[in-house]
Amino acid sequence: MRDIVIAGAGMAGLHAAEALREAGFDGRITLIGDEPRRPYSRPPLSKEFLTGKGAPATLDLRQDAEFDALALEWRLGRAAVRLRPAERAVDLDDGTSVRADGVVIATGSRARRPDTRLAGVHVLRTAEDAEALRAGFAEHERIVVVGAGFVGAEVAASARAAGLAVTLVEAAPTPLTRVVDPRVGGVFTELHRDNKVDLRLGVGVAGFEGDDRVRRVRLADGTAIDAPLVVAGLGALPNTEWLAGSGVALAGGAGGVLCDAYCATSVPGVYAAGDLANWPHPRYGGRIRLEHWTNAGEQAAVAARNLLAGEGTRQAFTPVPYFWSDQYGMKVQLLGQAAPADTVEVVHGSPEDRKFVAFLGREGMLVGVLGLRSTPKVMRYRRLLAEPTTWADALAEVSGPA
Ligand code: FAD
Repeated sequence: MRDIVIAGAGMAGLHAAEALREAGFDGRITLIGDEPRRPYSRPPLSKEFLTGKGAPATLDLRQDAEFDALALEWRLGRAAVRLRPAERAVDLDDGTSVRADGVVIATGSRARRPDTRLAGVHVLRTAEDAEALRAGFAEHERIVVVGAGFVGAEVAASARAAGLAVTLVEAAPTPLTRVVDPRVGGVFTELHRDNKVDLRLGVGVAGFEGDDRVRRVRLADGTAIDAPLVVAGLGALPNTEWLAGSGVALAGGAGGVLCDAYCATSVPGVYAAGDLANWPHPRYGGRIRLEHWTNAGEQAAVAARNLLAGEGTRQAFTPVPYFWSDQYGMKVQLLGQAAPADTVEVVHGSPEDRKFVAFLGREGMLVGVLGLRSTPKVMRYRRLLAEPTTWADALAEVSGPA
């Protein structure tokens, strides 16, 4: 194999390139990215980068010299538009093609956009999005955040830190429903309200109103909220459209790229990693797809090594999923899975004190560990999720203050 193409210059793309070089691959690696910059870190975009408390350097994943040492063919500001496995080629949007004996698909996901063209309605996925939103923070005194998933909840916290009046609208009964079990999720409701966020739960958005720019958000219950600035945190969609006709099997809907346990797609020599990869995880009873920063790096390294490895020497990807979010100076962390869980038990601290660790169980097995302001304790239980652990055995491992 002489030419490897990595499509997508994000967290997964960078880690794939590094893993290829670490494994001794000295052929040509072309990294195609449709953003103008080298890979950067997205988590600060909704946190310190948005409040202006971190210099732009906080987005850096690597120093220039570290990027240069990888000796990559950079194709930045260019999108991959087609994969032609039979011709061993990836086509770019400038009409050129790159030879590809092997491919790592790492085109990640994009923000789901609300159905409006009004100015002042933002999404947050890229550094450019964050810069535009930060300018909005400086210009306006109030903001409506639609969706209290982790991006929306973090934007609400950052907007409060920047001094804006914030209304946060969420159709679910508690914030962060995808990562925090609703049985302990009430703490996040209180957290927003204590920080003077006008939190509207259990109500969806009917539409955005205005002339050239947004003036109001209309809720499904008929209420109108004045809104010179809006951020929609409506989740993400995997960037898989460019794979149409390539033979790479997709999961359908917004399910991403179908991979096997080794991160291989349905096309030989084509692997996938990061936000768009959908693969079978033996401990979670089926396929999973994670939109988590740590996963993107870990999965890309395994995908890249497997691309180089021969049959029989490939490594199955069976991580302990890890996710964190920072809001109002507090860190929430999830190891494993949040849902579905049939059992939730707080094993340290209490949600009322805003400091706790909870175990999440399904069918008698431990499936997740959730913590707020409890990093060392959460991490101590990671090993319980690295192998199948019964609920009873997990509880027997609990030590330290209850
Ligand atoms: P991406 O980061 O999406 O990178 C893919 C790249 O490919 C992008 O640059 C994209 O523009 C590009 N691309 C797309 N299509 C093409 C194409 N056809 N050709 C070429 N290039 C293309 N996770 C956490 O665990 N904790 C957090 O606190 C956290 N905070 C976050 C905050 C924000 C605001 C956002 C947006 C995400 C956050 N995440 C967090 C999620 C984390 O950043 C993602 O899981 C991670 O970036 C995924 O990496 P990736 O490389 O798979 O995809």
